[in-house]
Amino acid sequence: MIFSVVTGGAGFIGSHLVDALVGRGERVVVIDSLAAGSRDNLGKHLDEGLVTLVEADLLGDGWQRSLAGATRVFHLAADPDVRQSAIAPDSQIRNNIMGTYRVLEAMRVHRVGEIAFTSTSTVYGEAAVIPTPEDYTPLEPVSVYGASKLACEALISSYCHSFGMKAWVYRFANIIGARSGHGVITDFIRKLREDPEVLEILGDGRQSKSYLEVSECVRAMLYAVDNAPSQYNVFNIGSEDWVDVRRIADIVVGEMGLTGVKYRFTGGERGWVGDVPRMQLAVDRMRTLGWKPEIGSAESVRSAVRAMLE
Ligand code: NAD
Repeated sequence: MIFSVVTGGAGFIGSHLVDALVGRGERVVVIDSLAAGSRDNLGKHLDEGLVTLVEADLLGDGWQRSLAGATRVFHLAADPDVRQSAIAPDSQIRNNIMGTYRVLEAMRVHRVGEIAFTSTSTVYGEAAVIPTPEDYTPLEPVSVYGASKLACEALISSYCHSFGMKAWVYRFANIIGARSGHGVITDFIRKLREDPEVLEILGDGRQSKSYLEVSECVRAMLYAVDNAPSQYNVFNIGSEDWVDVRRIADIVVGEMGLTGVKYRFTGGERGWVGDVPRMQLAVDRMRTLGWKPEIGSAESVRSAVRAMLE
């Protein structure tokens, strides 16, 4: 029986991944501090005894022993707040870089040979080539968050080559859907619930990015693990088009049944320090492997908004 450990498994993407792993009949242990995630996200699996939750901070000790006998670790635990990383970078350095180092060390000690890691489009910074392929250089992140994930990728590569591990590194576009606790859609829904007449939009609203619904993302993650045989695999995961922030606002407003909402733009081509105004990933590598996104960005946004409003 495959035994997967999911760090950050009580969070947004992690809990959807856990749903899928349980559906495949795997044994699943989740390690999560519940700093951002919640027990509710795993509710039914915990009640049915199908998932074990180890409530622990990766920066502390004790959780490492739960890796004994694992087939692989899906390492998702991280501080994903790009905006905050330009204000107080310490959390990203500790939770992302040190957290990843500590996971790799625990894997080495307990002889767990496979890691699947959630990296990000932000490792590319403001790429000159769009859609951006995985072999694009120079990798020049513009946020501390992006830098922290690039550092994690380097550490994982070195552990693969030094200690014979195997890795799948996913560079995600914006992943959206039910249980998401951060990002533009969450922000718009919260603001419109507070004030259904005026919506503040960060930047000029023209920032254009690729969005992918979380179930599509999880399908891609597992497809790569099942089908990519190299020792160190890097894959972009996203939809094959983009949508701008103004259009996202229109979709959220429409789905909330509001009319006459005035948009107030804070101005500037980026929403915050470290924001990348244009992002779309080339997914040819995943396509060659046999996976392709079934829906585009606007449809992903609409489906995510509906799920989040429920
Ligand atoms: P999330 O905040 O919902 O999930 C992260 C989980 O990690 C949370 O449950 C949190 O409690 C846990 N965690 C954080 N620090 C921890 C620590 N030190 N010890 C133990 N647990 C800890 O975020 P998400 O959107 O589900 O992101 C999951 C992963 O995917 C992250 O690595 C993120 O960087 C990456 N990612 C997400 C997106 C996106 O659009 N959501 C895009 C690119 C990459």
